[in-house]
Amino acid sequence: MRIVAALGGNALLQRGERPAASIQRHHVDDAVAQLASIARDHELIITHGNGPQVGLLAVESANDPELAQPYPLDVIGAQTQGMIGYWLLQAFTSALPDRPVVALVTRTIVHADDPSFEHPTKFVGLGYDELDARRLAAARGWTIAQDGARWRRVVASPEPYAIVESSMIQKLANDGAIVICAGGGGIPVVRDVDDGRLSGVEGVIDKDLATALVAHHLKADVMLILTDVPGVYRDYGTPDQQLIRMATAEELRAMSFSDGSMGPKVEAACRFVESMGTRAVIGQLDDAEDLLEGTAGTTVVLDAQTCPGRKTP
Ligand code: ADP
Ligand code: MG
Repeated sequence: MRIVAALGGNALLQRGERPAASIQRHHVDDAVAQLASIARDHELIITHGNGPQVGLLAVESANDPELAQPYPLDVIGAQTQGMIGYWLLQAFTSALPDRPVVALVTRTIVHADDPSFEHPTKFVGLGYDELDARRLAAARGWTIAQDGARWRRVVASPEPYAIVESSMIQKLANDGAIVICAGGGGIPVVRDVDDGRLSGVEGVIDKDLATALVAHHLKADVMLILTDVPGVYRDYGTPDQQLIRMATAEELRAMSFSDGSMGPKVEAACRFVESMGTRAVIGQLDDAEDLLEGTAGTTVVLDAQTCPGRKTP
């Protein structure tokens, strides 16, 4: 089978952990231990998140006394692809020394007139009190918004439209390589309508939606979204919460899920199964092999008929 798997940002850095390189590298090693057993029997294409890493590098760049302007977010996104890609390469080479593995700097095309550029909503970086946040916003041209008790920078999260490197990813996968790509959803670029040139833009793409594009282009048999919860819950966070073991895209679309976290995973799973008619599974990294078997996580299908043994809710 051809499997496209998205690694959540929490697979690299758990909430509240210090972002030390050694901690992240250990998490990558653990993640790869799970993924390597899948890669032994299947074609594997991996995407990954970069939220905490983008935030950290953006703050470092903003505080660098050598720089009049911090590095733009497209450049920082590229830095995180290199860094996380490198850790993944190292871990895969140790786990599967005979298997080719490649990490590809990947760009994702977005539309210049995407409404999110006018109304940025995606939080990046640290939280500040309101006064400091307003001062930083004025000095650095940030848009800021309140996140709980703190104020943070918000950036655009434009809709991913196409993966520039998709045919290259396909060639590498056809050649038997494990391909690491579309890190952080890919570097957002817009195409100039007159001369066709691509230029980077300030934004952060949702990695789950970008993964659905990769999985679609590669005609994946299964898309796995690996995160830190056992699957998608109904009434999440309430005493009545219940794990959804299997659902059609249509059933999930009738429910609502949190914008910044489970929402895009469910949306990505629905888009993939609607375009390909195959299945997507959302669940925790530690269950990766069981997710593939369908014995853990939330399996999303197009049509309940394709899933024998399914109990109607
Ligand atoms: P990742 O880094 O893997 O993308 P996210 O934080 O974006 O992780 O999304 C996973 C989180 O979504 C979980 O840790 C959980 O707290 C949250 N979540 C929100 N709604 C739900 C839901 N209905 N079912 C399960 N998890 C949910
Ligand atoms: Mg996420």
